[in-house]
Amino acid sequence: MNITDQKLVDQTIDLVKNEKQFTLLVLKNLQEISERKLYLDYNCSSLFSFCVKILKYSEAESALRVGAMELLAQNKPVEKKIVSGELTLSGAAAIQSFFKEETKDDKKIFSPQERAVIIDEMTGMSTRDIKEKLNEKKATPKPKQYTVVLDEEAYQKFMKLSKEFGDASPSTVIKKIYQYIENHKQEKLDKIKRQAEQEKEKAHHQQSDTRYIPAAVARAVITRANGQCEHRSMDTGERCGCKDQLVFDHCWPFALGGRSELENLKLLCSRHNFRAAVKIYGAEKMNSYAKAQ
Ligand SMILES: [Zn+2]
Repeated sequence: MNITDQKLVDQTIDLVKNEKQFTLLVLKNLQEISERKLYLDYNCSSLFSFCVKILKYSEAESALRVGAMELLAQNKPVEKKIVSGELTLSGAAAIQSFFKEETKDDKKIFSPQERAVIIDEMTGMSTRDIKEKLNEKKATPKPKQYTVVLDEEAYQKFMKLSKEFGDASPSTVIKKIYQYIENHKQEKLDKIKRQAEQEKEKAHHQQSDTRYIPAAVARAVITRANGQCEHRSMDTGERCGCKDQLVFDHCWPFALGGRSELENLKLLCSRHNFRAAVKIYGAEKMNSYAKAQ
C-alpha cells in the first residue's frame, strides 16, 4: 500500500465516521422494517431472526442492533450519540435492556425526561461501566457475577461434583465444598474439645471420689481449727498449730465410707496428714506412694 502514515490514519478516521453513519442508517431502516413487520414476508418471526437469516449478522450482532434500534426508536437524542461514537451499539443495547426489564409488568414507568437523563448519564462510558451503573439502578440489582477459568482436570472434577450434587450450579458446588471443609475443621475441633472435657470430668471425678468437701463444711472445719493443724500430741494433748500446707483429713477414711462432714474431718498439716494415712494404709504403701510422687 503506497500511502503515508498520516493519510492512513486520516482515511481510517473517515471510514469509521462513515461506518457510524451507516450504522445509524441501518438502525433506522431496521426500525422501519420492524414497524412494517416486513420480516414476516421472509418467514422470520422477529426482527432479530430477520437480522440473522437475511442480513447475515451473527446472533450477538443481531441482538445489539435490535436493542440499539429499540432505544433509538423511543429516544431521539440517541441518534447523535451513535454517530459521534459517544454511545456504542452495545452500550445502547445495554440501556435498552435495562429499560425493558425495569418496565416489565408495569413495575416502573420512565418519563421521556427520566429516560433522557439516564441515557445522558451513560454517554461516553464503556459498556462494562454502563452495565454496572445500570445494575445499581435496578429495583432488584442482580448479584455480581464472576468468571473463573479452570484447566481440563479441574473442570472434569468440578463437573463430577456438580453431577453428584444433583446438577448443582457452580456457585452451589463451591459453597458445598467450602462447607464440607469447614465442617471437617469443626469436627476436628469438636473432637479435641470433647477429649479435653472428658479428661477434665475424669479428673474432677477422681477428686470428688476422695477429697470433695462441700464449701460450707470446709469453712466450718477451718473455723473450728482456727486455721491451724488440729493434731494433738499423744501425751500432752498440745496442738500442733502448724499453718503450712493444711489439708482436710477424713478421720474415718472416705474410701471406707467416711463422710465429708464436720465431725469426720480434721484440718491437718501435710506431715500429720501423711502420718494419719500411714496409720490406716501402712508405712510401706504410703512411703512408696510418696516416693512415686
Ligand atoms: Zn501438724
